[in-house]
Amino acid sequence: MNQSYDVAIIGAGIVGTSTAHAMAKAGYSVICIDPLPAAGYGSTSNSSAIVRTPYSTLDSTALAWESLQQWRQWRTCLGDIGPSPLVEFYEAGMLYLNNGHDEAMENSLSHLTSLNIPWTLWNNETVAHHFPGFDMVSFAPPKRPDHPDFGEPSGVTMSGGYWTPDAGYISDPAQAAQNLKESAECYGAQFMFHTKVCGIQQDNGRVTGLLLEGSNVTELSCRIVVNAAGPYSTVVNAMANVQGDMLVQGRPLRQETCSLQRPESFTRITDQKAIVMDTDAGVYYRTEPSNKFVVGGTEPACDPLEWIDEPETLNKNPTDNWTAQVYRAALRIPSLSIPDRASGVADLYDVTQDWTPIYDRSCLDGFYMAVGTSGNQFKNGPMIGSIMKTLIEYCESGSDHDSHPCHYTLPLTGNRINLATFSRKRTATEGIGNVLG
Ligand SMILES: Cc1cc2nc3c(=O)[nH]c(=O)nc-3n(C[C@H](O)[C@H](O)[C@H](O)COP(=O)(O)OP(=O)(O)OC[C@H]3O[C@@H](n4cnc5c(N)ncnc54)[C@H](O)[C@@H]3O)c2cc1C
Repeated sequence: MNQSYDVAIIGAGIVGTSTAHAMAKAGYSVICIDPLPAAGYGSTSNSSAIVRTPYSTLDSTALAWESLQQWRQWRTCLGDIGPSPLVEFYEAGMLYLNNGHDEAMENSLSHLTSLNIPWTLWNNETVAHHFPGFDMVSFAPPKRPDHPDFGEPSGVTMSGGYWTPDAGYISDPAQAAQNLKESAECYGAQFMFHTKVCGIQQDNGRVTGLLLEGSNVTELSCRIVVNAAGPYSTVVNAMANVQGDMLVQGRPLRQETCSLQRPESFTRITDQKAIVMDTDAGVYYRTEPSNKFVVGGTEPACDPLEWIDEPETLNKNPTDNWTAQVYRAALRIPSLSIPDRASGVADLYDVTQDWTPIYDRSCLDGFYMAVGTSGNQFKNGPMIGSIMKTLIEYCESGSDHDSHPCHYTLPLTGNRINLATFSRKRTATEGIGNVLG
């Protein structure tokens, strides 16, 4: 059985559903394929879903700021909507703690300033007012709990932090993908679940279709394929044989987040919601709408990176990384209660050398990539589809994105970004950076 589409999207996470939505809304015939039972069931489902703006590049900052506005207008952003309830954007604000030695923070601040994104410098007294009980000494560099100096102050007092009032998080990341999927269906997109793409058909340097497993449809033809396979993106790129000219590639990295009870220090802030980025302790944490509290890691040098080249072998159980993250958070928040039983999630980031995603064409005509999301692209869910649509139309009309990069004007904020920032051919410095991107 053969079916024919303009666009076939591999993966129905936040990236694939956003792309399906944008392409279907623009009038293309679209199919999106995923081996899981529903949209957003992959790594998207375990996202901390934080929407914040500080990034290492100006273009990433502008994109995150635009996406934040789109989340605020989620209903309008979607257009026609399906039956599922829409996700909520919880305005929480984010405190980025400062130990006075964080060059990345200075760089991010300069981008916020140049884009007129609000931020305020808080001194230790202001931090103490909003987060009573925080221990404002520096513990840097972060250490493993079994290190003899774990928990020993470094002798430096923290210098407060900066507060970005607009940051927030999404109530349910998998539901956000469902919202996009259902809206895409209103515009004619089709979704095929329990089905895996197992081959990329091509002819004369151009993609022509996909081979499928798990469904009675075993192949389909299409002009355009978008790889949105998340932590499996490298497997899919290998199927298409497009890795030859890529200077940057994704690699699956295991990541745990810990689920705890919200500590006392978070009861004074507005609505008891907030996000804290604490690179001095090597963790981030945020409240939940209930009295839950999530703690994640920021890849401090003491934590070995757990690369999982075969994503299906992922260990989903808590390990001593859970303990390390919780103990580090408890250094800053002594009122944090540590449960006897570890609970939380383990999933995969798809990490590039510079922790910046790849939104690009490939060396195979018609084969595009929205990959390498590096643990920080859920927030751009509302915009990734529009970016991919713009890029696809630019390339398919004969423009050479590699030599004359496509630029894109962000619709709500009006900032113009250069999509070469997300090129597979950019020069990336390996070994620097973390999930902050
Ligand atoms: C623990 C954790 C915390 C995070 N926290 C944040 C955060 O706070 N803020 C933020 O912005 N980002 C965060 N992220 C990152 C963010 O969640 C990801 O960047 C984003 O969800 C990736 O979406 P995706 O659609 O690319 O991947 P996925 O959701 O993994 O979707 C990919 C889909 O492709 C499918 N697939 C794989 N192989 C095939 C195949 N052969 N054929 C068809 N389909 C296939 C998979 O089944 C899957 O459903 C976090 C990630 C994790 C893991």
